[in-house]
Amino acid sequence: MLRTVIKYGGSNLRNSEGLTKLTKILSAYQHPVVVVSALYGVTDHILDFTGNDNIEKGDIKRFSDCLYQKHSSMVNELIGSTLDRNRINKKLNDRLSELEYILLGVYYLNDLSPDYTELILSYGERLSSLLIQEVCNSSGIPCKEVLPENIGLIAQGDCRLSTVNIELSANSIKRALTDPVVYIIPGYYGINESGKVRTFGRGGTDYSAACISNGINASSLDIWKDTDGFQSSDPHEVEQTVNLDFLTYDEAAELSYYGAKILHPRTVEPLVDKNIPIRIFNNGSDAVLPKSIINGKKLISKNVVKSISYSDNYAIVKIEGAGVGQKQGVLAKITKVLDVNGINISSVITSQIAINLILQGSDAKQSVKLIRALDIPVIKELRTIHNISLLAVVGNGMTEHHGIAGKVFSVLANNQVNVLMSALGASEVTINLVINKKDRPLAVREIHKSFFNN
Ligand code: ASP
Ligand code: MG
Repeated sequence: MLRTVIKYGGSNLRNSEGLTKLTKILSAYQHPVVVVSALYGVTDHILDFTGNDNIEKGDIKRFSDCLYQKHSSMVNELIGSTLDRNRINKKLNDRLSELEYILLGVYYLNDLSPDYTELILSYGERLSSLLIQEVCNSSGIPCKEVLPENIGLIAQGDCRLSTVNIELSANSIKRALTDPVVYIIPGYYGINESGKVRTFGRGGTDYSAACISNGINASSLDIWKDTDGFQSSDPHEVEQTVNLDFLTYDEAAELSYYGAKILHPRTVEPLVDKNIPIRIFNNGSDAVLPKSIINGKKLISKNVVKSISYSDNYAIVKIEGAGVGQKQGVLAKITKVLDVNGINISSVITSQIAINLILQGSDAKQSVKLIRALDIPVIKELRTIHNISLLAVVGNGMTEHHGIAGKVFSVLANNQVNVLMSALGASEVTINLVINKKDRPLAVREIHKSFFNN
């Protein structure tokens, strides 16, 4: 049996209505696998709590009571029978007791290591999957909650930025999900080979769902949201965006990497080889047609450009010196030291006399310190440019159609936007631009206007 994997995200889980919608959605599927996020705001709440310098014993109970309220208020609204309500609330309480024990351990040992934070973070999803299982069962949809550790979703890599080892995971996922029921699985985390919880970064449930889709050879990954699909730009910044009905995996990956919030940037990776499509649905619209479909079919739009995404709060670390870009081993040493220290480089642009690292603004200071400590003789100057934005103009056919880059650059020039750096052809579907953050709103609006509103 070919199953569909459904991802149901936190923005749909603001109130009990979102759960009712889910039960309706599920009735249209044949035994789907549902991967769920934490209730809306819960991950932020956990991050705030674990970010406290010193957690008092009394704080733990208050924190857990607050989580209980959030979940059990939905139970109380949705479940009519007192007996059922009490039973489900008791289950929520039991799961919260696990979390309280963990937090008490942290308190007594006075040791909130990253390992514990990862484990604590996973409780947002563990609570919502339990809640959803119970609500669905009560509405006559036979459901079974299984946890990532039960299906062998093996994570690898650093805390908060972990990925799934698909080779190790795929077979066990497939074997674990064979009963004729609706499976409910908490997203966002897996277990590494030492049995420790590792999370996949913010919005990571999309990625969990994609890895599970790979494991079971899903017919599609259906992502249900409370908004439309991919847009021609960020609708909060740009007027009159256009909904994108079709995108390729590459286009979706690039747009997400450069800031489109609609999808976790790694979501397409586990799907490409098996050609599993992603379909994005809006649970608020009456028509149950997908808003965007993402697959391998290359479609060049009339505009060529499909969308413009951006990301703020970057910095450029500029490493200068004659021959710095050519001298063997310099870049390797630099990237290695940053990698070892958990600093992610978003882009590198080099020339004979300079290496430019584009990275998160918050990582710039430490990066400079680490590079300086390498004491590489050819490096004569090391400086940081702050308040940088990255802009990506994305669409299939960029490299085959002339005039696209020219148009982008002339729009920017006409609006006095200075392009600090750019990369063309690094990916076949993207023109990357590095600009000052203060220019970003105008740049995005004007590029969008030139391709979509003229
Ligand atoms: N709950 C996690 C977050 O807020 C993961 C997710 O929502 O996908 O980032
Ligand atoms: Mg999301």
